[in-house]
Amino acid sequence: MDEIDGGIRRVTLPLPTRPGHVHAYALPGSDGWTIVDTGLGLPDAKERWARELEELPGPVRRIVVTHFHPDHVGAAADLVELTDAPVAQGRLDYDQCRLVWGGEDWADVLVDWFASNGVPADVVRELIGQGSVYRPFVRYQPDPERLDPGDVVDGWRVVAAPGHADGQLMLHGDGVLVAADHILDPISPTVGLWPRSRPDPLGDYLGALEAAAALEARIALPGHGEPILEPSRRARALIAHHAERLDATAAALGPEPLSGYDVSFPLFGDDLKPAARRFAVAETLSHLERLVLEGGARRIEDDRGVAYTSGA
Ligand SMILES: [Zn+2]
Repeated sequence: MDEIDGGIRRVTLPLPTRPGHVHAYALPGSDGWTIVDTGLGLPDAKERWARELEELPGPVRRIVVTHFHPDHVGAAADLVELTDAPVAQGRLDYDQCRLVWGGEDWADVLVDWFASNGVPADVVRELIGQGSVYRPFVRYQPDPERLDPGDVVDGWRVVAAPGHADGQLMLHGDGVLVAADHILDPISPTVGLWPRSRPDPLGDYLGALEAAAALEARIALPGHGEPILEPSRRARALIAHHAERLDATAAALGPEPLSGYDVSFPLFGDDLKPAARRFAVAETLSHLERLVLEGGARRIEDDRGVAYTSGA
């Protein structure tokens, strides 16, 4: 556990995949500590957290989950067992958490969805296999307290941060932004289109980056990587990055219909492992859908699936 800013503690937890770590934060408060995020629910997650919590002077009063991705929500139930503290999670985010981790049919939904976006049948199986490796390591807490943007948690304002996950939330107070995976540096957070999610995640993300930049926070504490000084500047750099990626996406289109899978090759290269291709396809689709809304691409949908042409 490291002390970083204004008495805030940072807990760095291991991830078996890149970037190799995820940060949780402990925020000091009037009545005890608020833990933000929980790490992946690896087999030793509870023992690891027990050791970390010994260093914390005072009780944990609540656990905030910023979003339902496995490296953030995964050990929530372990932390509840250790602390007896309630979990607070975004209202929309918890719905998606239950949909993805609580349902039996999510893999089937993904299979159909990737197939309709041009992924060949044998490749779909590889992509889905990669996705379900995390399932045993997600122990979310059922029926948490629901948070909405604008709520206040022990003095911290809850801020919407859609894009990386539709219902992702951040905490903002005293010039500090607990940023989850909304603003990372040097990583560019993945912004993918997924089934049964909001229709324009990249549009949501760009809007939320503008809003985050307007906060003019002094420092952002991200889910991965070191604290970010001048987070507004980083938010604007991410906006510029996606403008370039939108241009590259438009340039990959022509008069012949191409699927999201097809377009992921010029955008992300030919040589990706299945797990990376899965995110590449989802990210390509978020850019294609934004282009459609901007008039830079056209979507063609028929019984074989979804494809795109240039907008002209
Ligand atoms: Zn993350």
